[in-house]
Amino acid sequence: MAQEAFTGGCQCGAVRFAVTRLGRASMCHCRMCQKAFASIGGLFVAARAFAWTRGQLKHFQSSNTVRRGFCADCGTPLTYEYEGSTDIAICAFDNPAALPPTIQLPSEHRVPWADALASLPSLSASEQELAAGRYAEIISYQHPDHDTAVWPPPRAGDANGQ
Ligand SMILES: [Zn+2]
Ligand SMILES: [Zn+2]
Repeated sequence: MAQEAFTGGCQCGAVRFAVTRLGRASMCHCRMCQKAFASIGGLFVAARAFAWTRGQLKHFQSSNTVRRGFCADCGTPLTYEYEGSTDIAICAFDNPAALPPTIQLPSEHRVPWADALASLPSLSASEQELAAGRYAEIISYQHPDHDTAVWPPPRAGDANGQ
């Protein structure tokens, strides 16, 4: 029986992947993951069996044992590669909700306010309504959360070079 693949890719869609066997999903608070994601840390799942289905990664050797892969076109961080193993960034998957982290890796660099994020106040209903109006006018150039045969799609104006 064919196993369903967990697909994903970078923000621009130049790099896409399909994982057929997953390992542990984790949250890493180390300073290197903070820098690599420019965020509070790195969320990764081990990819035990997978294929790159579009494009190629560029790599940064972040230490003597680890290199990190990213899309050279849009900059999305995608992999943590070490000792022949590859972890892939959870939120680069088309459905990150299906990949909950099960462990966090401690670090003295953990930002102290990380735990408070989930309980921060949200926008009021009227503010949300205002924001929704603005979002409705935005045209996204982000790759959709599924595989595509052709990407990017032709845009209006491309034909005459605008
Ligand atoms: Zn990209
Ligand atoms: Zn880390």
